[in-house]
Amino acid sequence: MSMIKKVSVIGAGTMGNGIAHVFAMNGFETCMVDVSAAALDRALAVITKNLDRMVSKGTLSEEGRSNTLKNLSTNTSLAICADADLVVEAATENTDIKLKIFKDLDAICKPETILASNTSSISITKIGAATKRAHQVIGMHFMNPVPVMKLVEVIKGYATSSEVLQLIMATSRTLGKMPVEVNDYPGFVANKILMPMINEAIYTLYEGVAGIKEIDTVMKLGMAHPMGPLQLADFIGLDVCLAILRVLQEGFGNPKYAPCPLLVNMVTAGYLGAKSGEGFYKYEAGSKELKVSLRFT
Ligand code: NAD
Repeated sequence: MSMIKKVSVIGAGTMGNGIAHVFAMNGFETCMVDVSAAALDRALAVITKNLDRMVSKGTLSEEGRSNTLKNLSTNTSLAICADADLVVEAATENTDIKLKIFKDLDAICKPETILASNTSSISITKIGAATKRAHQVIGMHFMNPVPVMKLVEVIKGYATSSEVLQLIMATSRTLGKMPVEVNDYPGFVANKILMPMINEAIYTLYEGVAGIKEIDTVMKLGMAHPMGPLQLADFIGLDVCLAILRVLQEGFGNPKYAPCPLLVNMVTAGYLGAKSGEGFYKYEAGSKELKVSLRFT
């Protein structure tokens, strides 16, 4: 198995820009691909701002900043992935969209290219089966915010080869991350445990047991969580949380994963959390930092 030098990241949203950031910062030639040119522009602006913050904090040199930006490019066509050694897909959490992307990548990419997905919950085995190279399809589940969070959940699909698994574990370490190998079942480990907790927090609000601030404060101060579950849901994206709960519900055939009706209503109404400006909290884009205020007070 050859070394990975050239990487394409599909989807330039919340996760895609962070994934592209860490690959480019660690010397990989990195191209971000998105169907939306506006999303690519936004992603480059976010990466630049995050790199500037690292320089001002002294965690990155000026040279590191300019090399990272030199390693980054953008494109709106999947065709650019033809000679990538690794493609990391971080497009919208929707099975049909992902299966189509992998089918197309399989036709476009050179035979050795490894195809990884950052999916939070969709079966890697199913994604692999949409290609003719299932042994080279793997889950590479980064955490949000990617430049900060150390974990990469590495998901071995039913057909993923051990060689590909080991290469992706090693590549994750090169990015300064801690890879953890898990098997391919709905939600893997992270979201099988996290999403029922977030859903229960939303039910706790919906049933009137306590308010947003109270629920988040109990979990922050009582359980030493760095962020309350409702605020975390806003940062993950309420649409993403809903999509993951539906995958868990369908995948295990267990009603305990059924999403709270309040979550369904909020997503239907377009209240997606931080990315839409409002979820459980309201997010006002301030001069530098995000200003958070309570929505339901
Ligand atoms: P997002 O909505 O912020 O961004 C998705 C991007 O994908 C958008 O820019 C969209 O234009 C693009 N896109 C859609 N269809 C595309 C296509 N066919 N080709 C190229 N680009 C396309 O989503 P996100 O929160 O960044 O999530 C991306 C993936 O990462 C999902 O699979 C999600 O489950 C997973 N994930 C999310 C989080 C999180 O905290 N948000 C954490 C871990 C994993």
